[in-house]
Amino acid sequence: MAIPGPLRRIFDYLPPSGCSPAQLHPGMRLRVPFGRRFLVGVLLDVADHSDIAEKKLRRAEALLDNQPLLPQELLALMRWASSYYQHSIGEVILGSLPTLLRQGQAARSKTETCWQLSPAGREIDSDSLKRAPKQAALLRILQQHPAGLDAPSLNRQQQNWRPSMARLQQKGWVTTHERESALTPPIKAEPSKTAALTLNRHQQAAVDAISTRLDCYQCYLLNGITGSGKTEVYLRLIQKVLAAGRQVLVLAPEIGLTPQLIQRFRTCLGQSHNAQIALLHSGLSNQARLNNWLACAAGKADVLIGTRSALFTPLPRLGLIILDEEHDLSFKQQDSFRYNARDLAIVRAQKAAIPIILGSATPSLESLHNVAQQRSQMLLLPERAGNAQPPQLRLLDIRHQKLEQGLSAQLLSRVQQHLDDESQVLLFINRRGYAPVLMCHDCGWHARCLRCDAHMTVHHGQQQLRCHHCGSQRPVNRHCPDCNGDSLHFMGAGTERVEDTLATRFPHVRILRIDRDSTRRKGSLDQMLAEIQRGAPIILIGTQMLAKGHHFPNVTLVGMLDIDYGLFSADFRASERMGQLLLQVAGRAGRAERPGEVLIQTHQPDNPLLHFLLRHDYPGFSRTLLKERAEAQLPPYNHLALLRAESPDAETAMQFLQQAKQQAALIQPQLLAFGPLPALMERRAGRFRAQLLFQHHQRGELQQWLASLMLQLENMKNARKVRWSIDVDPMEMY
Ligand code: ADP
Ligand code: ZN
Ligand code: ZN
Repeated sequence: MAIPGPLRRIFDYLPPSGCSPAQLHPGMRLRVPFGRRFLVGVLLDVADHSDIAEKKLRRAEALLDNQPLLPQELLALMRWASSYYQHSIGEVILGSLPTLLRQGQAARSKTETCWQLSPAGREIDSDSLKRAPKQAALLRILQQHPAGLDAPSLNRQQQNWRPSMARLQQKGWVTTHERESALTPPIKAEPSKTAALTLNRHQQAAVDAISTRLDCYQCYLLNGITGSGKTEVYLRLIQKVLAAGRQVLVLAPEIGLTPQLIQRFRTCLGQSHNAQIALLHSGLSNQARLNNWLACAAGKADVLIGTRSALFTPLPRLGLIILDEEHDLSFKQQDSFRYNARDLAIVRAQKAAIPIILGSATPSLESLHNVAQQRSQMLLLPERAGNAQPPQLRLLDIRHQKLEQGLSAQLLSRVQQHLDDESQVLLFINRRGYAPVLMCHDCGWHARCLRCDAHMTVHHGQQQLRCHHCGSQRPVNRHCPDCNGDSLHFMGAGTERVEDTLATRFPHVRILRIDRDSTRRKGSLDQMLAEIQRGAPIILIGTQMLAKGHHFPNVTLVGMLDIDYGLFSADFRASERMGQLLLQVAGRAGRAERPGEVLIQTHQPDNPLLHFLLRHDYPGFSRTLLKERAEAQLPPYNHLALLRAESPDAETAMQFLQQAKQQAALIQPQLLAFGPLPALMERRAGRFRAQLLFQHHQRGELQQWLASLMLQLENMKNARKVRWSIDVDPMEMY
């Protein structure tokens, strides 16, 4: 059995009393005793003996399902993932289930009662109920809805309808039935424009290449510049797969799952194919998640659109996987089970013998390397769809320039110009809050987090200091705590400060700030996105939340305030990310008729990497980076695993990693290990962090050695004094 918990092993149990082994099948849930508690686990295998002595074996308490919740293929994928990422199978499997199933609730979706006229009721003339006007009114409502109405719909039509309904039921004129609640909150369907589009030749070529081979595994990299019509290609292929009676899984970054995108899927697929679309993302209630999950597992939903974890949903008729914005970091889970949904989606497609499409305007170096190795096939969309032209990119050299809270005079005058032309402007700054540093001009003191090696960010127009790493906060100091002077200065600018500056400078222009702070309230991002769609002149200030997948037809100017940090960072992936972010943000400009302009402020106007990007030469940019990676023996030419440890004092974590390194050397002397080293930010939330990096050119061998190492570490005495974790194929190296 797979049991939730950190131990990398499975557990044996006797069947519940009164339950014959023939009733038990892998993929069913059982409630089992574990220590002094009861836990919900998932059955992996039924065997007729155990290595554990019979009298020590405990009996499972209850069988929770009468058929497997998880099909064999999915269990196999999870076992594969558990061993590849060196993570406990119990956490992998139980973690993949909707919360309510993990808690042991029945695998039934919630239903709603519907009221409907009985055959006798349909014969009644409402005029015959003159003395009961409320019943007559209700009868007329029901006559208009022969399929029946649920309580929320009735509430909207008539107040206090229940007593009258009860009377109608007593007379035998109304019956009730249970209906499954709607999969997705209904979104108003509009007559769709997209259905009438004629694909351009590149789009058509991509659709043709994939649709001729829908019945076997193949990984495709759909590399189309921003606005080239990738979504349109997805939709055409989905239609073909649905027509063949199969299901489609679409994975997207959390923030890419905008109402706009979902609406596009609904109008296109709902109207022409009457397809059922299920959603799975963090914004849903537990009950909605369960309903949608069950609809997928039962084969009732045809298309599942979801974020990372939707990858683990059972889809018995699965015929195609699409992963949009494949370069996006959010596909990698950064805590506990540190899987990469992109890589696992490929494994799932392979096991199911179906095609998978990875889409991006700025593919990851890993995916480009896979194309070079002929493990996947590239399909190019080199032109913007329709009449839109790629935006023009220019550098603004801001050396020796006086900046107004991060904004150069040239940029400000272009903002004015585009607003005068009735266009929208987007300013990108990847730093939220008011200012990143609060410093004393007299003595040099600056506000630091007491629990992390980090500065506190000034927030809420100077009211509050907040640490972006551990979340601790305190009021902004009025005087310097060191010298008691009062010349405290805000250094640098975040989104709030840029907003302030622009509000003073353009007092009559609507300004929208879009970052994690301004969108915390549910629905607020949707509201802002809707306002942008309406197209009136606006200044948008945003962080990378704005970079992903949005279609803003009226934005013609994009200004990037500071991207230089991407050229200096200690993480070897920083320049790749900077390039992707730059082109993605730039891609928001000029997506409709009017041409777009992108201005990039930099202190490094001669940087060769930036010049590739200015020419829209992402292939050249990525080739340069791949060459550097090959020379430095870094991924994708090599495989990494990062062993992290943290402890309340600096020494314990380092000692543990030192021991781990010795153990690893015993297991395999050729395994390269670097470190242990303190993490870049050594102290975070009051704990000291250190790391040890393993490197090997062979994935399979690295995996085997790690497996033996994990077992040894689990049994090491020191391991109990630290929090440790292993990150296979780490994406962030701090
Ligand atoms: P991407 O996903 O590559 O960024 P989209 O699929 O969102 O691009 O397409 C960008 C815009 O171009 C959308 O407004 C879409 O309706 C439009 N579009 C896509 N394909 C075509 C086409 N063949 N002809 C005209 N317009 C198109
Ligand atoms: Zn001071
Ligand atoms: Zn902190």
